[in-house]
Order: sequence, then structure tokens, then C-alpha cells
Amino acid sequence: MSNSQDEPITLSNFLFNKDGKFCLPCTAYRGFQYVTTEMTNRYQVYKNNKLETLRNAQPQVNIMNQDTATLPVQGANNEMIPGSRTYVKEDPPDVQKLGVASWTFLHTMAAKYPREPTQTQKEDMSEFLKLFSHVYPCNWCAMDFEKYITKYSPRVESKEELSRWMCEAHNHVNVKLGKPKFNCDFWQQRWKDGWEE
Ligand code: FAD
Repeated sequence: MSNSQDEPITLSNFLFNKDGKFCLPCTAYRGFQYVTTEMTNRYQVYKNNKLETLRNAQPQVNIMNQDTATLPVQGANNEMIPGSRTYVKEDPPDVQKLGVASWTFLHTMAAKYPREPTQTQKEDMSEFLKLFSHVYPCNWCAMDFEKYITKYSPRVESKEELSRWMCEAHNHVNVKLGKPKFNCDFWQQRWKDGWEE
């Protein structure tokens, strides 16, 4: 088996048992490992090139446009971490980036919550959201979210109820930050089913 186009087949490409017999599963497994690593590396190169192209094509980033504004931030200068062929030097998240990732998690979690949860699932979800509000790694956000949860207990009776509660909780933050409210009738399209063409 050839490891790549550049690497010819040699005896060292094959693995042998202790008794000196050719070991097909070990050799195949090593080949599989090689292919998956190679795919990961090539994907990273592809991703880096794509980011570079987008950055070059958009020297003026419109800060009002969240989609394009977030692109160049990823792997700011596209430089790799020393010793890594996989990870670019990406900055720690700021409140905005953390917020988008956290809301994505929270809304998706609600969208995947059972339609008819068991008592244990309901209790787990209530407990999780309470703990989440204690440990959210942005102090003033966490304090406000804690207050919100105390005032408006998470509605954990069903997927629909929880998703709407989450939407309202997010709208509470949107309003605080001077952003428009999201129409909660569309939670399902945004976080579960996608939009019809
Ligand atoms: P986000 O508000 O993060 O929204 C991401 C996407 O969710 C949007 O693009 C939209 O498609 C969808 N969406 C928007 N609103 C809703 C909704 N109501 N229901 C369903 N989907 C919706 N930042 C602060 O500066 N101060 C705070 O006090 C603060 N508190 C936070 C508390 C929590 C629990 C969390 C998770 C985040 C908090 N943030 C806070 C971060 C803030 O909410 C935003 O995430 C951040 O400002 C980035 O905003 P954004 O406009 O990019 O999109």
C-alpha cells in the first residue's frame, strides 16, 4: 500500500507479527490512521486558504454585518501554533463570541429536548440551567441571567415550552443590549427544522 503519491511502497509500509508474518489488519489500520490524519491536515489547509481568500476579498469589514465580521477574527493572522500542523493561533473568545456560541448551545439543547420529558429530565434541565447561570463565564451576564431565572423559572414541561422560554430569555438580553427582539414563533425554523426555500 502506498501512503501517499510522494511516498513509494517500501517494506517499512507493511507491519509484521512477532513471528515475522505479514499482518494485514495492522497494516490496514495504520493506513486508515494515515488517511484520516491526512484528511484532517488537508481540510485545515483548505480552511486556512478559504479564510485567506475571504480576508483578501473583503479588506473593509462591515461591523454591522455579523456574518462577515466574525470571519477574519478566526485565526486572526492564520499563523499556526508552533509544533502544530492543525491548530491556528486563535484568540480566546470575547463576550460576543462566547455569547453566540452559548446561545447556539442553549437553543439547540432546547430544540433537542424531549416533547414529553420524564420527571427526571425536567429536574435535570431545571438544575442545569440554574447551574449554568451560576458558572457562565461573563460575570455581569451571569448575574443578570441568574436574576432572570429566579424571576421566570425555566419552563421545562416540553420541547416547545423550553424553546419558547429560551427565546424569551434571549430576547430579554437582546432588549438590554438594544437589539431587536427575535420573533419566537420562528424558534423551530431557526433552531430545529431550518427554513423552507
Ligand atoms: P446573539 O444574540 O448571540 O444571537 C445569535 C443568533 O441567535 C442570532 O443570529 C439569531 O439568529 C438568533 N437569535 C437571536 N435572538 C434570539 C432569540 N430571542 N431566540 C432565538 N434565537 C435568537 N452580552 C452582553 O454584552 N451583556 C450581557 O449581559 C450578556 N448576557 C448574556 C447572557 C447569556 C446567558 C448569554 C448566553 C449571552 C449573553 N450576552 C451578553 C451575549 C449576547 O447575548 C450576544 O450573544 C452577543 O452580544 C452577540 O450577539 P449577536 O447579535 O452576534 O447574536
